[in-house]
Amino acid sequence: MAASTDTSESTQDIDETPVTFKSLGVVDVLCEACEQLKWTKPTKIQKEALPVSFEGRDVIGLAETGSGKTAAFALPILQDLLEHPQRLFGLVLTPTRELAFQISEQFEALGSSIGVKCAVVVGGIDMMTQALQLAKKPHIVIATPGRLVDHLENTKGFNLRSLKYLVMDEADRILNMDFETEVEKILKVIPKERRTYLYSATMTKKVAKLQRASLKNPVKVEVSTKYQTVDKLQQHYLFIPSKFKDVYLVYILNELAGNSFMVFCSTCNNTQRVALMLRNLGLTAVPLHGQMGQNKRLGMLNKFKGKSRSILIATDVASRGLDIPHVDVVINFDIPTHSKDYIHRVGRTARAGRSGKAITFVTQYDVELYQRIEQLIGKKLPLFQTEEEEVMMMVERVAEAQRYARLEMTDKEDNKKRKRDRDNADDTEESLGFRKKMKKKKKN
Ligand code: AMP
Repeated sequence: MAASTDTSESTQDIDETPVTFKSLGVVDVLCEACEQLKWTKPTKIQKEALPVSFEGRDVIGLAETGSGKTAAFALPILQDLLEHPQRLFGLVLTPTRELAFQISEQFEALGSSIGVKCAVVVGGIDMMTQALQLAKKPHIVIATPGRLVDHLENTKGFNLRSLKYLVMDEADRILNMDFETEVEKILKVIPKERRTYLYSATMTKKVAKLQRASLKNPVKVEVSTKYQTVDKLQQHYLFIPSKFKDVYLVYILNELAGNSFMVFCSTCNNTQRVALMLRNLGLTAVPLHGQMGQNKRLGMLNKFKGKSRSILIATDVASRGLDIPHVDVVINFDIPTHSKDYIHRVGRTARAGRSGKAITFVTQYDVELYQRIEQLIGKKLPLFQTEEEEVMMMVERVAEAQRYARLEMTDKEDNKKRKRDRDNADDTEESLGFRKKMKKKKKN
């Protein structure tokens, strides 16, 4: 392979050498799919993982979301599927529902011209609907471990005995979320004769153990960008009194209008409140947090992805793994308590070679946490410049929007409580009915 002389583009994710998908061994139809996605050249992880995968080796990849790792495991699976068409061909295990949908989208985008069928099997969605999807025998199943085990144990006619590929994506998170038992159960019921790809941001003891238990003579590929932030990311902090956080947020959103924003809050409640407050000011903000149902979360995310909303207010549910390519500005409205989350949050912008901005609000209560962040990234960040007079001119309007937001929150809480009370009443009736039925059954 020719050595590179092209150093025009140097980023974390995209390597400089003029290697193409074709030269790595990707077949024409999949090269065309990459082209359609406007992927002009492979990322580092793809350059390293694709050739060894095509040789049929197991792969352990140390890479994070944003590196292009999904395609690094999806392309070899799709290519093999193309040569050996078979239902229930590959299984991807991933820690969260959002990631599962994202992975499925990439499989479908890359495999659309070869008619690949995927099923996403995650919690929070009706078991019956999923069972019907599985009965159609998709080519690729993308699942969170808990729900998959549920189906393996309870869904008649569903098994993975013909599986050819297993991917464990974000293995460190799968194991940190205590899915160890589920993963063990899954490993027991899939063929030993298979290819396995294990991707993880970090090589923890648990991941090493899982690797020994599930991979055969793997090739290790590594492009971890852990604890580094990319060059094209401009990072700033803003030192302000806690009581003016909302008004400074509104000021920045106005100053940088025309960009897409992700605003991180530390609690579900604050996420909801900030989103309502901004909406009361006519800004197109949507919330994303763990207390929202799965459908609502996806709906909000899609509105933001589809660019009909320009501001996503989120808890750390969204700081890792979510692939939202066009975020221009990340605002740490509430400073992250764990400094590592800072890296994940700001990693939502300046992706795949683009530039981006991150602004962290630091109040009188956050100084220590902020110093820890600076220590972790090994940099002192510049202050974000603001015009105090202009900010203060907005105080009254923001106060009004805050008042309305609080009222809306109280209304919603009341409605929820009423619904809970109703549901509880229904549940009791249902379980009484169920118990009666069971008694009758036992008698018979
Ligand atoms: P991942 O790390 O797999 O979550 O991918 C992060 C983002 O990079 C996704 O939006 C992919 O669509 C995108 N991507 C993957 N491969 C490439 C590539 N070769 N060139 C440009 N973007 C890519």
